[in-house]
Amino acid sequence: MIKRNVLLNPGPATTTDTVKMAQVVPDICPREKEFAGLMKGLRSDLLKIVHAPEDQYTSVLFCGSGTINIDICINSLVPEGKKVLVVNNGAYNTRAVEVCQMYHIPYIDLKLSVYEQPDLKAVEQNLRDNPDIAMVYCCHHETGTGILNPIREIGALAHEYGAIFVSDTTSSLGMIPLDVIKDNVDFCMASAQKGLMAMSGLSFIIGRTDIIKASKSYPTRSYYCNLYMQYDFFERTGEMHFTPPVQTIYATIQALKEYFEEGEEAKFARHRAVYEAIHAGLEKLGLETVIDRNIESGLVVSVKYPDSSNWSFEKVHDYCYERGFTIYPGKISTTDTFRLCALGVIYPKDIEDFFLVLEEALRKFNIQIPKNE
Ligand SMILES: *Cc1c(COP(=O)(O)O)cnc(C)c1O
Repeated sequence: MIKRNVLLNPGPATTTDTVKMAQVVPDICPREKEFAGLMKGLRSDLLKIVHAPEDQYTSVLFCGSGTINIDICINSLVPEGKKVLVVNNGAYNTRAVEVCQMYHIPYIDLKLSVYEQPDLKAVEQNLRDNPDIAMVYCCHHETGTGILNPIREIGALAHEYGAIFVSDTTSSLGMIPLDVIKDNVDFCMASAQKGLMAMSGLSFIIGRTDIIKASKSYPTRSYYCNLYMQYDFFERTGEMHFTPPVQTIYATIQALKEYFEEGEEAKFARHRAVYEAIHAGLEKLGLETVIDRNIESGLVVSVKYPDSSNWSFEKVHDYCYERGFTIYPGKISTTDTFRLCALGVIYPKDIEDFFLVLEEALRKFNIQIPKNE
């Protein structure tokens, strides 16, 4: 038996024991045909999760955390002399801006309110005024706040103006149904430890094969993190160019099996039920949230610090942590928040148990429970 922790942070997420144990395998050299065969199945299963047709899309695996995907998409998919438009309403979109800066790639940082969904008129205005935009970039689920962005509409605008649309779907893929064709997504991405409920170390980009092939002639800005190079190596050999995260790949294959067993809709409904339980628990204590529920993803809730001089995130965190529940700091610079997330193999009952522990913590540290004021 492995101790079960309920992770309420936005990934890595709580996993099943079967996924944990799938990593314990005989030692194998990843250059063996047997291992290449495993990755072939994994790459094609990833396409199924986002309903990507095999004849138009491919998936490319990388060893690294989710940020490697942001780095790779931006450094690999911008032609010479072209620009990126980052539709920026939060911390994870800001990360894409920082990648553009690091590689000296021209960009427009369309900085919008972090409390709202992006203004589509502003997106269109920028596309109209800047015909040199080759890529529009926006997170699907802005994990910093919990806002779900209207990617279908943003993708449609990108295409109308001849740009490709890249969406960071790291914190939604495998949890909120996504259909790359209907949602106008040319490239999406995630890492294995979030929606797929596997381990960290494996990240992947799912995108249009024709665009990856065209990117062969684009400026190469990184040696290790180049999308065409990795794609091409997979096509020729079935392997990653450099050493893959072997055990994480075994865990991900098991996690995908469990994903398809649970089913897209049932999994979506389970995450939603956990999210509803989070809101119910907060309401009972009178704790306030920051984002309008109508625009929340249903996966992350940003909670305002209670207005009490005794409040200490650290003390409350430690109390909950010792009892098997992990809460997470916020990522909004203008409001003091912490986050409760609905990722992973967790259920509404876990949330009910968590709120009992949270209430105990508030009482222990003499933090006023707003509902009792
Ligand atoms: C988690 C996450 C990432 C990747 O973060 P890492 O720490 O590199 O794994 C990227 N984008 C979003 C939206 C995320 O939620």
